[in-house]
Amino acid sequence: MPRPILATIHTAALAHNLERARRAAVDSRVWAVVKANAYGHGIERVFDPFRAADGFAMLDLAEAERVRALGWRGPVLLLEGVFEPRDLELCSRLDLWHTVHCDEQIDMLAAHKTQVPQRVFLKMNTGMNRLGFAPERFRSAWTRLDALPQVDEISLMTHFSDADGPRGVAHQLEAFERVTRDLPGERSIANSAATLRHAAATRADWVRPGILLYGSAPDFPEHDAEHWQLQPAMTLSTRLLTVQTLKAGDTIGYGSRFTAEGPMTIGVAAVGYADGYPRHCDTGTPVLVDGVRTRMVGRVSMDMITVDLTPVPQARFGSEVTLWGRAANGTVLPIDEVARSAGTIGYELMCAVAPRVPVATD
Ligand SMILES: *Cc1c(COP(=O)(O)O)cnc(C)c1O
Repeated sequence: MPRPILATIHTAALAHNLERARRAAVDSRVWAVVKANAYGHGIERVFDPFRAADGFAMLDLAEAERVRALGWRGPVLLLEGVFEPRDLELCSRLDLWHTVHCDEQIDMLAAHKTQVPQRVFLKMNTGMNRLGFAPERFRSAWTRLDALPQVDEISLMTHFSDADGPRGVAHQLEAFERVTRDLPGERSIANSAATLRHAAATRADWVRPGILLYGSAPDFPEHDAEHWQLQPAMTLSTRLLTVQTLKAGDTIGYGSRFTAEGPMTIGVAAVGYADGYPRHCDTGTPVLVDGVRTRMVGRVSMDMITVDLTPVPQARFGSEVTLWGRAANGTVLPIDEVARSAGTIGYELMCAVAPRVPVATD
């Protein structure tokens, strides 16, 4: 028997969230961003519900190959482009569109021997300062690409640093529009946060939602997933291994981090940091037992956590424990709330579910 821990991927929620992205960007085509193995959900598992997307975007060439192996004939975009010259052969063979963000990638293209010219997305660095050509260098990069027989269409893209926060997108958008105004080609600028929060300003040929597809709010805690009408695409659940009865003064777990103030019952659940449940969660992190909201107490161990059973006195060996997602009774514990307790974001939790955790689909 495996341990009772399980990650369940909710196919209908993935389809719902993609539809939500479409409604937020009705005039745009939608890249389903499936990097990092579909944010930890598994490319093969999200593929069916995301077939309704216009294309798949990722960074890893092996992931692009997996999408093609699933039979996808539509657009595939490499968000960081190629890393070495032979990657361009794969782009030719599998018809992958790729980002061009630096001179070295243009050099590789210029040296690439191909019969079929390639579609590229030229990236402008409008302030994120990770990838892309600075605005004042963008046009010369465009001109250089445009002159290459290896290049077919050139699309234009940029990426926002603050679409989820108070600084917003105006400063980056201004630079992008000023430089690209009279250039031909399709545009792609919006991530999830921009798609939801700045739809009018960031309208373009393509949007690139990632996190929203997986049911996490890009701007939590300002807004939660329910506000954006997103459904959790992943539930991480387990069961109680046992119940402990404590009296006043008893402590729990490593470091005796929690002390009972009076008599109480504690459930021991089969999940720990070796499953990807963050060790930064501490007393107070929300958790559901039999669909009833309660809290973690004490430290996260490698394979176990301890939870306060005060609100769920009927809980016993085998009771359902939901770490995030949807309990059997329908109650939802947003992954964003758990992430906040761990000082991180939903993205990191979903990507970090450990390989030892079995995964089911419903
Ligand atoms: C990851 C990524 C996205 C998607 O971002 P979300 O915040 O998950 O919506 C969009 N564009 C690029 C270039 C990315 O790397």
